[in-house]
Amino acid sequence: MDLFEYQARDIFEKHGVPVLGGVVATTPEEARAGAEQLLGGRPGVVVVKAQVKTGGRGKAGGVKLARSADEAAQHAEAILGMDIKGHTVHRVMIAAGAKIAKEYYFSVLLDRAERRYLAMASVEGGMEIEQLAVERPEALAKVAVDPRTGIDAAKADEIVRAAGFDADVAPKVAAVLQKLWDVYENEDATLVEVNPLVLTEDGEIVALDGKVTLDGNAAFRHPDHAALEDAEAADPLEAAAKAKDLNYVKLDGQVGIIGNGAGLVMSTLDVVAYAGEAHGGVKPANFLDIGGGASAEVMAAGLDIILSDPQVKAVFVNVFGGITACDAVANGIVAALEILGDHATKPLVVRLDGNNVLEGRRILAEAGHPLVTLAETMDGGADKAAELAHAAA
Ligand code: GDP
Ligand code: MN
Repeated sequence: MDLFEYQARDIFEKHGVPVLGGVVATTPEEARAGAEQLLGGRPGVVVVKAQVKTGGRGKAGGVKLARSADEAAQHAEAILGMDIKGHTVHRVMIAAGAKIAKEYYFSVLLDRAERRYLAMASVEGGMEIEQLAVERPEALAKVAVDPRTGIDAAKADEIVRAAGFDADVAPKVAAVLQKLWDVYENEDATLVEVNPLVLTEDGEIVALDGKVTLDGNAAFRHPDHAALEDAEAADPLEAAAKAKDLNYVKLDGQVGIIGNGAGLVMSTLDVVAYAGEAHGGVKPANFLDIGGGASAEVMAAGLDIILSDPQVKAVFVNVFGGITACDAVANGIVAALEILGDHATKPLVVRLDGNNVLEGRRILAEAGHPLVTLAETMDGGADKAAELAHAAA
């Protein structure tokens, strides 16, 4: 999960990374109040910053300096609602202004290929780091970080030396890097990036912009991270599925998919996409893994989500009976259709295989639900579902 800058700022602050004051605003009036609060009646500068989960806000006109609360409100008015690389600005952060002497770059991220972490630092921050990495790769220091030791004092020194920080600021920067490592490790992040990390005219090191990605697999260790989710950006069907603990991902197609086991569902998506080529180009509408114990309730919850998707014209249920045998799954499907009643309105192609398959097929055949078609094979089921979806589209 990617965080907004203001959320990264708050997490930095919690772990002792030096940041400046920041207030979130969703209206120009709130922006004015935030600026007044930060300025405290003294002359000074605040920065109005678009809160969108993409970089290059500065270049796009989403970061503006203001010398008064009125000016902050004006900038907020202009920035709110702006589109930055396809992201609509719903919030701005009013940040205390910094007197910048130098802009640096720092990041630490998960290096999957090397099975460790990678720290990157540059004394040439501010600009787009991708550009720097291409044009002047020698200006971007890359230092491997061992997960067992992390960025301790010795590693922080190694990074600042590799990046060529001036001797007078190096110890201060190294101290901040260790705090940023605290954020990375203790919050279970996969990315912590600061661009720019600045040296102020007063000689302080401050994280002026932060980008943090949290590892969703570690969410169970961080109940507080749930509050950081961006509810308004979530797809409503995905949100509903999440509330029911379903592994559901909405896609842009017409054939709803239910399967058990992530691998089986992934291959079902491929097979349906392939079959769809012969049926007007219909495509899979979603990923949904109902897992091992496919009870009637879970099957009903899954079907309910998929049938609520107006794009869906037919559903392919592809289940391999294992510990939960096919007869239990078949009973689950029959019960789910009863639970859904009139809400079940789209054709269902069911392919069962594995443990107790014959009994499973018998149960479905005997129930004889008018919407259900039985398929013998995965390819055959995909073809039938694609055909039905195309016919109904
Ligand atoms: P990004 O363009 O999305 O990465 O947004 P940043 O937060 O990095 O801001 C872009 C640029 O705005 C920075 O590199 C700074 O040069 C400038 N900037 C941001 N905050 C301040 C500030 O408080 N004072 C001044 N003078 N410039 C700032
Ligand atoms: Mn930046």
